[in-house]
Amino acid sequence: MAITTKAYGAISEKEPLKPLDIKRREVGENDVKLEISFCGVCHSDIHTVRNEWGGSKYPVVPGHEIIGRISKVGQNVKNFKEGDLVGVGCMVDSCQECEQCKKDLEQLCDKGATFTYNSEDKYLKGERTYGGYATQIVVDKEFILRIPENIEAAAAAPLLCAGITTWSPLKHWNVKKGDKVGVIGLGGLGHMGVKFANALGANVVMITTSPSKAEDAKKLGAHEVLISNDEAEMKKHKNSFDFILNTIPVGHRMDPYIALLKYDATMVLVGAIEPLDPFHGGGLIRGRKRISGSLIGGIKETQKMLDFCGAHNIVSDIEMIDIKDINEAYDRVVKGDVKYRFVIDMASLKE
Ligand code: NAP
Ligand code: ZN
Repeated sequence: MAITTKAYGAISEKEPLKPLDIKRREVGENDVKLEISFCGVCHSDIHTVRNEWGGSKYPVVPGHEIIGRISKVGQNVKNFKEGDLVGVGCMVDSCQECEQCKKDLEQLCDKGATFTYNSEDKYLKGERTYGGYATQIVVDKEFILRIPENIEAAAAAPLLCAGITTWSPLKHWNVKKGDKVGVIGLGGLGHMGVKFANALGANVVMITTSPSKAEDAKKLGAHEVLISNDEAEMKKHKNSFDFILNTIPVGHRMDPYIALLKYDATMVLVGAIEPLDPFHGGGLIRGRKRISGSLIGGIKETQKMLDFCGAHNIVSDIEMIDIKDINEAYDRVVKGDVKYRFVIDMASLKE
């Protein structure tokens, strides 16, 4: 038996998203079912719907910034109960046995984590996992996050992907008070990166292609704004950054950003999954510089980040939309025209 659920998704890469019925598994003994209140719109949703990374299997029901209240728990679920405010991020399962899972790095699971959408469904044979553009979801208790009740639920949704994806590399690379930290790209991820780097005490520089976003960047917590296509300004910041978080969503020229790093400093890529433009090895060699990557974060780390947000009152800056406006919202994200994350009010799908 399965639960029929109302959702919104794409049946091919060429078509806009539209209403669909999908199947969720019945609540098993280790499962939690939530009624989805809000779901953030990540650029990854768009990449997947439009098959820009290849490998999308349709229908695709995106959404991995999910907030809701629990409506049912299985008999083995002790830490959560009906009515709790919880979240689901980018993963809904992993093997729980490999080295990485044991180190709380489920996102790097040897057997491959089950992502919230466009993964194989381990429970419903022949089905895919379907994300949060839906009224309900059933998820293993180990992948349920607790949302602090003191922060606004809708604005907390983006923490589940944009939040953890920027928090994790800042923590992993030990960003600390006084460090000069650059955040490239003021979008959903970038604006959370600025908030977190600021909260960790860094001297934050927003590196953007959009001069029009400069004022906002400062309100979000940037101490300085660097326009990346202004060569003279870029030159002034050469060899000066302790850390750079790069959220550019497509392949791009790396040399101008590598030049900004101080010796021994690291730039972490989280956006561009595709080939990058060739860059000069010398740019790294002369300065012992590093380029690294980062994929979301583990479940324990995500909970820590959420608790930090509760304690420091950090949420995302959002624009709330109804589900019927989702296709227009996608076009606006691609144009960089969102302040700074769309969140879908899922009540609009129930109507
Ligand atoms: P977004 O809201 O579209 O923001 C991206 C920002 O990058 C834009 O607002 C723009 O900022 C800048 N940008 C866009 N195109 C650019 C270009 N060609 N050159 C330079 N800058 C450019 O996207 P997002 O939701 O933050 O996601 C960012 C990327 O991270 C996406 O590719 C997404 O799939 C990926 N992602 C990765 C992970 C992970 O775990 N690694 C998790 C979530 C998302 P300015 O106007 O300020 O220049
Ligand atoms: Zn995402």
